[in-house]
Amino acid sequence: MSTSNAVQALSAIEDVEVVENERLDHRTSYHIGGKAALFITCHSYHALRSTIKVLLREDVEWAIFGRGTNILVADEGYDGAVLTLGREFRRVVVDEESACMTAGSGAMLSRVVNEALNHSLAGMEFAVGVPGTLGGAVSMNAGTRSDWMSEVIEEVTVYAPTEERLKHYRYDEIEWGYRTTSLPKSDIVLEVKLRLRPGNKITITERMERSLRRRRRSQPAAMPSCGSVFKNPPERSVGKMIEDCGLKGFSVGGAEVSEVHGNFIVNTGSATAADVVKVMQKVYATVKETYGVELQPEVKFLGF
Ligand SMILES: Cc1cc2nc3c(=O)[nH]c(=O)nc-3n(C[C@H](O)[C@H](O)[C@H](O)COP(=O)(O)OP(=O)(O)OC[C@H]3O[C@@H](n4cnc5c(N)ncnc54)[C@H](O)[C@@H]3O)c2cc1C
Repeated sequence: MSTSNAVQALSAIEDVEVVENERLDHRTSYHIGGKAALFITCHSYHALRSTIKVLLREDVEWAIFGRGTNILVADEGYDGAVLTLGREFRRVVVDEESACMTAGSGAMLSRVVNEALNHSLAGMEFAVGVPGTLGGAVSMNAGTRSDWMSEVIEEVTVYAPTEERLKHYRYDEIEWGYRTTSLPKSDIVLEVKLRLRPGNKITITERMERSLRRRRRSQPAAMPSCGSVFKNPPERSVGKMIEDCGLKGFSVGGAEVSEVHGNFIVNTGSATAADVVKVMQKVYATVKETYGVELQPEVKFLGF
């Protein structure tokens, strides 16, 4: 692997920005983690294709980031390239007549939600308050207990690096699960077509406000986190299970099971990734012992 050769080759590609030894604690909502050998922003499709070609040629491992709101980065960092999608991937186009929105995966989900509201299109209300990008939300099939991204998706366009081509998937060509999809891990979501419904602006606003109020009541907004750490087991609330185990407030170093929501492990200021992992291990072991349930992490790990 040669990151220096890669940096040299990448510097010649238009619409590519490369930062070496980038601190990832500045790039994640957790504010935790070491450095990435390379942090690369691709502002166009051409830039992305060319970048991946270079990384493959130079044998540099890579991972894709949206806004890093669901990622725990190891304290040792990531000895590869973190890729993010820039300008060309942030476009949002709304067709009110067909109630469809086509958006680049680098667009913030909050913007997609607001565009839907501005055009009186219903369907995105559940996503109000979910941080991160549209690409991250599709990849995670983000949502609430009752509403998921997959319900509003019509089509997804990805770049498949292994085949070096674009691929278009209709909604029903992808298997959508609880915070998972059947899209190959290496595929990069580039664009998403959303099918919404004509609605009433006042009703949409009311639903969003309700959803936001619920979120503010039940989530620790003031402290850095990655949202829910574990997936809910079928028909159960993992937050409630953790709370009933008496684990709220349990801490290791600067990582603490939130007093507000049992399934949030917050960074109280000085948490390391190792602290978070230790708290996760304690929660996992206690829940397994108490309920016989083996929790699955929702958070994604990088550099472990
Ligand atoms: C306070 C808080 C509240 C949250 N509430 C919710 C909630 O209610 N519901 C919910 O589902 N989640 C929630 N989350 C988690 C998180 O916001 C979502 O999972 C979000 O969709 C992740 O988007 P992101 O852009 O930050 O993705 P990242 O965290 O950067 O990445 C997440 C995963 O998606 C992959 N990915 C990102 N972009 C792409 C792409 N273009 N192509 C392919 N793969 C990609 C990454 O490789 C990674 O595996 C919350 C997080 C926080 C901090």
